[in-house]
Amino acid sequence: MTHLNRHQKNHQKNPVRIALVGLGPRGLGIVEQICMQAPAWPDQPFELLLLDPASFGEGCHQQHQPDHFLMNTAAEQLGWSAIRSENHKSFAQWIRENGLDAGSQNGAASQHVAGSQNGTDDASSATATPTSTTTAPSSAINSATPKNNSASHGYYARSMFGRYLRESLEQLLRDAPDHIHWQWIQQKVTGLQKNADGSWNLETPEELIEDVDYVHLCTGHGSAERPKNRKNSKARLRSQSNQDSQATQDSQASEDSQYTQGTMDSQDTNTGEINPSASPSFIEFIYPFDDHFASLASHQTVALEGMGLTAFDVVAELTEGRGGVFLPKGDNGLLEYVPSGREPSIIAYSRTGLPLKAKPKGQDQAHGKKVYKHLTDDVVRQLQSEAPVDFETQILPLVELELKQTYYDTYFQLHPELWKNLPAVHEGSANSGKSGNSAVLEDSTNSGNSVAPEDSTFSANVADQKSRLALMESMVPQQDRFSLDALLDPFSSFDMQTEETFRRSLENYLREDFLKAELGVAGSPEKAAMNTLRDIREQIAKLIDFKMLRGDSQQWLYHTYLPKIKWLSVGPPRSRIAEWLALSEAGVLTLNFGAAPECTAVESDGVERDAVERDAAPSSGWILRSKTWPSYARHADTLIQARIQVSDEIGNQPLVRNLLEQGLARLFDNDGYRPGGLEVTHDFQIIGRNGKPIGNLWATGILTEGERFYTFSLPSPGKTSRFDADAKAAVQSMFTTFGNHTHKAYEEPYEEPFKEPYDEQAEKIYNT
Ligand SMILES: Cc1cc2nc3c(=O)[nH]c(=O)nc-3n(C[C@H](O)[C@H](O)[C@H](O)COP(=O)(O)OP(=O)(O)OC[C@H]3O[C@@H](n4cnc5c(N)ncnc54)[C@H](O)[C@@H]3O)c2cc1C
Repeated sequence: MTHLNRHQKNHQKNPVRIALVGLGPRGLGIVEQICMQAPAWPDQPFELLLLDPASFGEGCHQQHQPDHFLMNTAAEQLGWSAIRSENHKSFAQWIRENGLDAGSQNGAASQHVAGSQNGTDDASSATATPTSTTTAPSSAINSATPKNNSASHGYYARSMFGRYLRESLEQLLRDAPDHIHWQWIQQKVTGLQKNADGSWNLETPEELIEDVDYVHLCTGHGSAERPKNRKNSKARLRSQSNQDSQATQDSQASEDSQYTQGTMDSQDTNTGEINPSASPSFIEFIYPFDDHFASLASHQTVALEGMGLTAFDVVAELTEGRGGVFLPKGDNGLLEYVPSGREPSIIAYSRTGLPLKAKPKGQDQAHGKKVYKHLTDDVVRQLQSEAPVDFETQILPLVELELKQTYYDTYFQLHPELWKNLPAVHEGSANSGKSGNSAVLEDSTNSGNSVAPEDSTFSANVADQKSRLALMESMVPQQDRFSLDALLDPFSSFDMQTEETFRRSLENYLREDFLKAELGVAGSPEKAAMNTLRDIREQIAKLIDFKMLRGDSQQWLYHTYLPKIKWLSVGPPRSRIAEWLALSEAGVLTLNFGAAPECTAVESDGVERDAVERDAAPSSGWILRSKTWPSYARHADTLIQARIQVSDEIGNQPLVRNLLEQGLARLFDNDGYRPGGLEVTHDFQIIGRNGKPIGNLWATGILTEGERFYTFSLPSPGKTSRFDADAKAAVQSMFTTFGNHTHKAYEEPYEEPFKEPYDEQAEKIYNT
């Protein structure tokens, strides 16, 4: 083990050492803020240690993943920051500048591997270990071309987003002030030790990094490990043409060289025979993706637990990834699947038994601040003053009014004859000089339903809005009225008669959902309302963050409401729904097990047992049995858990566990409810077991879920982003600590206040 400490550095003045643990999108925000705020101390050298075993900006959006793993957000709505400026290119802008947009020569329309097409490739950026003393790798056009049938809708490959993030970080560091010296250390941090003077030592499997003054944790979804055996022909091409560029890399980079070498060695197995005997019967996580499915044979059956976004990746890999092709079926966007014969049979199931709903077209066109008519800023401020509040009784009714409002505004827009019977809206007309109705119509038309300029007077009178909304509703035929209940429970008893009637109804439901998504937010009142449900997260967060809700209400929100809004509003690009429908019609994908079927493990002696201890993978596969139609059962060889790591598993991260055990952190606890994140101050200092901020340790992002609501969605350019705000607050707090009394926080003798045993409740949460 090597020991790296500040005295090995050759600065005249001892540098202040700042460690950033986790270098994903959140890390970028912290780096930017450090670069922006450090110039206030021009004579003080800063040493920025960037620790991440695999990522240099990409985080969970690794460049080494199949191109058919898509972003779930349209490019127009994505950025590493929400700021729009020359230095903050949005993902869409970056795509255009690199000629990677749909239809361009290098872009979506291209069938080529761009690396071979334009004579450059990205292995240098994918494998180098940049430091500020070496030139950051030039990031050339890489082979990550977007998926053809989705790129035109603005949903691009995640590998491409990863490359965008990486280049953005490289740019930030190229522009860093001279007195910031940075270094990427490709290590996973497994523990922190507090020194007597308050500074930190960082433990990694290979070295101890000593005397660090300040530490920021941005470990997001957990630690990404670079796949060692990815058998991807495009990766082979990249690695091959970059051997030269690897010559100057250091020992950490040589780990990468092994990786790329490994992919070259695997050439023969890329399209070769599958060995079913090696097939695992249980796959707990698919990320970071590492050809997890290579050994699954076409005669096998795969059960997929979860019908969310990860499931779309799994299905894409097992179909398109195996050479299957989706062809247009007619001109309405629906698809037909042509199998390759190499795909296994797939059964997908979930608690609800339904796939997520498709994202609508035009969702990316709503810019500017969303103006609400019921959950207005004034109402939010009023509720904040009453905190802690109850979500179900005080907030949800207002959210439902907003959904209805968007629904009927869109409905009326599609039925202009209805406007003439609606009383004028007073607010808005005064400013615009137009009649009230046309003012409403114009606002909706201009900016995507209920989005109005920031100075709009729409928030005026909530009571008036409510009665006007009731009037709108009464003017709409019964069968067209908005019903959240119907959206949440779309099937009749007739649909549910047998698994076969359900299969047919489900296919109709998917078809309808796709076609509504094609109509878009302007053409489908339902999709417009679901878009509001997604956007309103930012508004309701103001009533959740930092214990604005009662503990029991926060629990209800996370366990009852959140799964529903996710299901309705954060679904995949609509092309995915067309694909699942085509796969169901082709008999490749089975979706008709109904809600929460039972999955039991089968032992080699044929005995079924409860699949509780899933790590102990059964030798004879699994039996899936419908609870809705108990005689409907099927055997599966392999069970794949289609999910991502979220906040309730934070305590399983070795680093977090280490902090909890030492009492250097404690779980966020809202009156007994613990969503899994850590307790932090408003400027994101971690709070220790003794209830005091640690002083020189910060956490942002998913680690703070609970204090912050919905920490796992990326910034949307031009909108308010808590990504940016949190990074700014945390770094400001660090520089305040530094500036107030040079290094005071860490010079204070550190007490040992944490005598209690490791929190038993945390043990219970994480081990059950
Ligand atoms: C598969 C997937 C798809 C997604 N798609 C979308 C989308 O389309 N739209 C959207 O808005 N959001 C999406 N998200 C969510 C969004 O990407 C995340 O919210 C965002 O990446 C969070 O950024 P982060 O930096 O906090 O975490 P991450 O991106 O998870 O990055 C954390 C980094 O920390 C590193 N790390 C972790 N532990 C350690 C350690 N102990 N030592 C050193 N380094 C460590 C990891 O290696 C990783 O690089 C997606 C998430 C996933 C998992």
